Amino acid sequence: MDTRPILTLKPGREKPVLLRHPWLFASGIDRLSSPPAPGETIQVNSSRGECLGWAAFSPASQIRARFWSFSPTDVIDRAFLHSRLQRAIQLRQRTIPPTETDAVRLVHAESDGLPGLIVDRYGSTLVMQCLSAGIEYWKETLADLLLECTGLSDILERSDADVRSLEGLPERIGPLRGQPAEQVTITENGIKYKVDLVKGHKTGFYLDQRPNRACLGQYAADKEILNCFSFTGGFTLSALAHQAKSVISIDSSGDALALAQENLILNQLPAEKAEWIEGDVFQLLRTYRDQNRRFDLIVLDPPKFAPTVAQAERASRGYKDINLLAFKLLRPGGLLFTFSCSGGISADLFQKIVAGAALDAGVDARIIAHLGQGSDHPTALNFPEGTYLKGLICAI
Ligand code: SAH
Repeated sequence: MDTRPILTLKPGREKPVLLRHPWLFASGIDRLSSPPAPGETIQVNSSRGECLGWAAFSPASQIRARFWSFSPTDVIDRAFLHSRLQRAIQLRQRTIPPTETDAVRLVHAESDGLPGLIVDRYGSTLVMQCLSAGIEYWKETLADLLLECTGLSDILERSDADVRSLEGLPERIGPLRGQPAEQVTITENGIKYKVDLVKGHKTGFYLDQRPNRACLGQYAADKEILNCFSFTGGFTLSALAHQAKSVISIDSSGDALALAQENLILNQLPAEKAEWIEGDVFQLLRTYRDQNRRFDLIVLDPPKFAPTVAQAERASRGYKDINLLAFKLLRPGGLLFTFSCSGGISADLFQKIVAGAALDAGVDARIIAHLGQGSDHPTALNFPEGTYLKGLICAI
């Protein structure tokens, strides 16, 4: 057994640990045998002194420790991390055919047993996001292991997500191994997308929407489509590649729209069927309502309105607003593809918000499909927070 600083839980605070939830909150801690360094591995004991597992200590965060393992006999070392990485990478190899895409999330943090680590592969470039003190502590080892496990040589670090500040970590963007490209072209379901790995949102692209972009394609033929929050044209290109009649794409980011238009050309899709609008979706939906515009299919894929439950109420109003307006803009027989990627909004609550929006819009709507994040964004059953992307296709 490893000898490490020992964290002892308060009496009665063992339950989430016994259910194998990977987060240990500061409020549940009784004492520490010695002060661990940020990210250092600690032994976690029950109030009665039994070893419950091993975790990475994070002094700045309310999530004071994140479990690596619930097995007292495990040792958290290079070999342990290697096996976790291998397991994650092999899951993708088993479940995602290379013909589907060359851009895949290889590691989905807590859900792959590596709390705080995101690794996305874009062609031959890896993008790594370190979101916890524990991952920061093992960063160099993890980078070496990633090259070993994938046979690739370039890693870009995109440790610029807001949650890093909660862990007391500074932002860092830059090469970690080799000479990673700043812009790459990926191919997803036969469609090429240029991705800006340095400036693009998240690690460059919304990989989680892959199955839903493909799904939209099935419904797109001959439709007049409005794609709200289009980013670099994910849903737009899929629709045009599947013979949509026209697509209006709205996003507030001029850079994203410029890349979207390059992507259109790259795929030799008909530019005359695409209209790009740099603007605010909340305002434009109102303008279209006032102009009595109508569409056959509307996509709503807004950014995270509620990162945590604390913002749920305000976020609910935002979702209600855009969904209500979208329902009003649909022709009879129209389809709404509506999403929420907010961790603070449950699937149940999201469905209730959309139901309220349909009611207030005066439309009779039914859900014809529930959508979610792609299989390379799995959810560990002991970590329900891993499911964050919720989508509904509603037919009116
Ligand atoms: N559907 C996209 C991802 C959308 S991400 C895909 O499949 O790739 C959300 C997008 O909303 C971002 O591109 C962001 O620039 C944009 N955005 C955020 N607030 C906005 C607003 N009020 N109006 C228009 N676009 C907005």
